[in-house]
Amino acid sequence: MAQELFSKKMLKNIQSLINSLRLAQRAELTDESGRNLISELYVDPLPNNAVLNQITHDDTVFLVGRKGTGKSTIFAMAQDYFRHEKKQISAYIDVKTLYGKSIAQDINVGDSNANVQKLLLFQNFITIVLTELLKELEKNLDSKNLINKILSRKKNESVRAHLSNLRKLINEPDYVDVSLKLDTGITSKGSINSAKKETSNSEFNAEITNKSIKIASANKNISEDSESLTEENIKTFSGVLLRHFSIKEYMEKISAILIEIGISKAHIFLDDFSEIDYEAQQIFVNTILAPLNNWSEKFFRFKVGAYPKRIFYGEIEKGKVSEINLDYYDLFKVKGLPELEVKAIDFLERLLDRRFDYFLQNKPEMLFQVDLQNSWESYKKILFQSSMNIPRVLGNILHYCYQSAIIYQKKITKSLIEDAAQKYYHNQIEYYFGKTNYLAEAFEELLDRYSQQQLIDNVVAKAKELKSKLASDATDLFIDLPRSGIPTSHFYIKKEYERFFYSLELNYFISKYYEQADRDGVMISIYAINYGLCKANNILFGRPDGDTKYRKYFISRHFDYNSVLEDYLLGHIEYECEICGCKYTYKEYDTLEKIDMLCYKGCKEKGKIVERKLFDKLNPFNPIERKNLLPEIELDILHTLSQNIDSNLYATVIAQELDCSYQLVGQRATKLQEKKLLDKEDKIVDGTSRKIYKITLKADSIYFKK
Ligand SMILES: [Zn+2]
Repeated sequence: MAQELFSKKMLKNIQSLINSLRLAQRAELTDESGRNLISELYVDPLPNNAVLNQITHDDTVFLVGRKGTGKSTIFAMAQDYFRHEKKQISAYIDVKTLYGKSIAQDINVGDSNANVQKLLLFQNFITIVLTELLKELEKNLDSKNLINKILSRKKNESVRAHLSNLRKLINEPDYVDVSLKLDTGITSKGSINSAKKETSNSEFNAEITNKSIKIASANKNISEDSESLTEENIKTFSGVLLRHFSIKEYMEKISAILIEIGISKAHIFLDDFSEIDYEAQQIFVNTILAPLNNWSEKFFRFKVGAYPKRIFYGEIEKGKVSEINLDYYDLFKVKGLPELEVKAIDFLERLLDRRFDYFLQNKPEMLFQVDLQNSWESYKKILFQSSMNIPRVLGNILHYCYQSAIIYQKKITKSLIEDAAQKYYHNQIEYYFGKTNYLAEAFEELLDRYSQQQLIDNVVAKAKELKSKLASDATDLFIDLPRSGIPTSHFYIKKEYERFFYSLELNYFISKYYEQADRDGVMISIYAINYGLCKANNILFGRPDGDTKYRKYFISRHFDYNSVLEDYLLGHIEYECEICGCKYTYKEYDTLEKIDMLCYKGCKEKGKIVERKLFDKLNPFNPIERKNLLPEIELDILHTLSQNIDSNLYATVIAQELDCSYQLVGQRATKLQEKKLLDKEDKIVDGTSRKIYKITLKADSIYFKK
């Protein structure tokens, strides 16, 4: 019998390698015995650990990148660095999870007033964050002490006692303040009267215990209509929270304890910061980030992980913070596009080399069908194109290749990578639109998705049209190409139009590839359509090799999509003044932005112009029965289960797939079970007893059977 290509042990290690890339590692990357792997697996996006150095040396840094670009991994490595520093300490705060936790706790409010509820939610959130911060500091002080032996046992115990006392304090009702005064009246229109009123009518008292909060009396005048808070409301809320908690005083206490034992800086990592509601982000910046960051002591420094274009800076002095963008086109400083591609592929290779070396003591080539026609170089290129260098996407593509080749003792071929990219697109990316009909989200949000779907459909239609049109083009750029081999995967638009593509980009339908001046000197942004989406539509990806004339292939006028976008915008988006009803087109929007959204054609009021989406049909959706609509996270849990029918999934694994906390998954699974959409069973998985989730037939037929 022929020897097997991959032994059982190798298969297991290959799987661990792939999972280390594809599953979100919210906590630290560890091996089976709990050993921290980060310093062995870490590969910096830039040579000489340049990103890590900036994170650890600059004061406050915003680390910006789409989901899966490796923000948490960089943070984990930086924490490891601080662990070995005698005078610096760090704490990791998973903002998204804590916010989810504070929403999930039932706040018992004896009042239906939405503003009061929101205030209490934010208060709960801030309390949870501060508690977590202290826990983290205690934990990190312990591990630092193990490494550096900075404290005697007695001293260590006394510091720990101080910190845990503070932690108790913040959760104790009498410290948290029994009567909470909102001493600025919020009138029924939601505007603020800043005069202080101490009458019982304009104040309410809240009794706060750990889990339940009761409002003793509340002002009936506080706006009932608070779908979204006004900026002034948010400022008032922040003010109340600031005074109520005296956060600065509290943080001063923490810093005093730490300074006494010789710590000179505390670095606080705030991960997934932009994934919380925009309102909560503003409150958080106003009450914690900005005051502490601008504080002259400079004791607390922040490292904030965020999605592109979704960051609220508020009062943070922008000169005092730096920003690192992990999207590769922004990261590598290069002279031209070909050099950028070389550097991007270099990162991909370093990333793979390190993981293969650790898990398999081998080179990545071992998994791929490398031969005379298919060089390792050509494999690296296709892996870069299909993943756009996002480690998590790369992990997912390898995961599908594992299932289609490796388990059958076959090596991965290029066509299997193409199939995997297409499968990943259908199962994960396109699903973002597919689920619209099942979501109990706000109608506006659904409309937004619907209009994005139309935009990407238009882009793909244009790329397909170009493919056949350019086949009969006799100009120099196309004449030498095989008639059926003309790539049309990339396009460009004016840089100022980028914002119309933010959502599609955030959700991986397209990726920004490069920016440069076009032939007329106008700044343009070049995008690549998702590789799997291209495959699904028979669109060839990339640009031709060989002749130097192809270096400028993407900026051929044929790939100018400005008119595709403009036609779409004229038909789909308009701006309307909420006061006088005056309408503006997207072309007039830039003018509006420059003059603080002043309704210049009509009532001359500021800030009342809203975006409207236009549709042919009044209701573009085919919603299922109302009672079956689900919150997005619940639908995502069911989707994950339906994608992995044969696997034994439990809360932790699902949480890693969805990049959220296992507590959130557990809590939502119980709700789904009550609706008979999910079953739980006890099972032994890899020697440990687990609560396994299965999707029910009912759920499958409502949500996933076409
Ligand atoms: Zn107006």
